[in-house]
Amino acid sequence: MDGCSGNGAPRAVVVGGGIGGLTAAVALVRRGWRVTVLERAAELKPVGSGIGLAPNAQRALDVIGLGDAIRALAAWQGEGGLRTPSGRWLSRTDPQAAAKAFGGPMVLLHRATLIDTLAAALPEGALRTGESAELADPGAADRPAVVRTADGDIEADLVVGADGINSALRKALFPAHPGTAYSGFTTWRVVVPGHGRPFAPHETWGPGRIWGTQPLKDGRVYAYAAARAPQGGQAPDGELAELHKLFGAWHDPIPAVLEAAEGVPVLRNDVHRIAEALPAYHRGRVALIGDAAHAMAPTLGQGGNQAIEDAIVLAHHADPYGGLATGLAHYSAERLPRTMGIVRKAERTARLNMLRNPAGIAVRNALISAVSALGPAVALRSFADIATWQPPVRTYADQARKQDTARRQETP
Ligand SMILES: Cc1cc2nc3c(=O)[nH]c(=O)nc-3n(C[C@H](O)[C@H](O)[C@H](O)COP(=O)(O)OP(=O)(O)OC[C@H]3O[C@@H](n4cnc5c(N)ncnc54)[C@H](O)[C@@H]3O)c2cc1C
Repeated sequence: MDGCSGNGAPRAVVVGGGIGGLTAAVALVRRGWRVTVLERAAELKPVGSGIGLAPNAQRALDVIGLGDAIRALAAWQGEGGLRTPSGRWLSRTDPQAAAKAFGGPMVLLHRATLIDTLAAALPEGALRTGESAELADPGAADRPAVVRTADGDIEADLVVGADGINSALRKALFPAHPGTAYSGFTTWRVVVPGHGRPFAPHETWGPGRIWGTQPLKDGRVYAYAAARAPQGGQAPDGELAELHKLFGAWHDPIPAVLEAAEGVPVLRNDVHRIAEALPAYHRGRVALIGDAAHAMAPTLGQGGNQAIEDAIVLAHHADPYGGLATGLAHYSAERLPRTMGIVRKAERTARLNMLRNPAGIAVRNALISAVSALGPAVALRSFADIATWQPPVRTYADQARKQDTARRQETP
């Protein structure tokens, strides 16, 4: 299957301008595709949330030349750790040991900063907001894919389905797939002005609920929380009142963060994950990336990281000038096992996070403390397979050099 555009570079249409879609768009442009991103929201403006990027996603961003910019805009993980609601430390993080084990720092930034940086790297006119899209035809070797919008149909040599957890493209490609399942808990996220007092970043695990507080580089504070809850619930007195009820008596700085959240929008999202693995992450000329392909619980902080990895691997395999069918098959074969392994690991971590039974909690906490006492290398081991991932190429400059050398070697 080769590119089938009549004139100009082959055309890729990306449906969804979230983290995955924008990263894919930048990577495909760097690879020589003519790219259009269709985003249904009127503007790209993620509010109320930070995002942690582990070294795996940063290496993927290095490929498209944005890793340094992101690291410069982010807060690097400092000393912190895991606590109980009374404030007792169960384990401490050692940022130097983590950076050594994973080959780089863990960083945190506001989502808007990440989205703005990605969008700014696109050619002018590539991003069309306020454009809801659906898949009219996935295409095949002898015909382009077709994406339908209110402004008309668009033919594409490649379509990237980056339309998130409720992906309509996933349903169109794999109608028999059961979609997503509720993970049994809901989450809250809020970004508040700094409350002036220094604090150690932490995640705190209580019975059936957790809370995290992390600093952003600009002095604001990102807090997230999760608790077991029936699906579709809304707090009767507002989400901030619910957070006070669930976490107001927990250790410092949680009460101060709750106070600072007065009048600030609090995001609430039930957590769903992909119910079972898709048969593939592509069909015809369409590839699925990010939550559309493998929505996962946020307990490892990897949903967005994996969307970024997907984007880079997809662009690597999607040669605009030939072999698209093989390229997409390689993409599925590489990404499906890795991402589904992480989906399952995130689910197992969620079960540990959300334990309610006091005996179970006592055993879990004792185990965490015991592992922590063995030193950072042991404690970090369980995340190393995720964080040490290497992209297929170091940078596109390297790839261009390699292709050039290969071409010269082939020339008699
Ligand atoms: C509480 C919480 C904390 C998290 N923390 C982290 C973290 O620290 N690190 C991390 O890596 N991940 C984290 N995640 C997960 C992360 O948010 C997601 O995995 C990530 O946003 C997925 O990116 P995406 O691009 O696939 O989808 P999305 O970000 O959902 O983007 C999809 C886009 O597609 C658009 N769209 C949908 N349908 C259409 C259509 N028909 N036409 C056009 N546009 C359409 C949507 O408007 C949206 O902009 C967290 C999630 C939660 C709930």
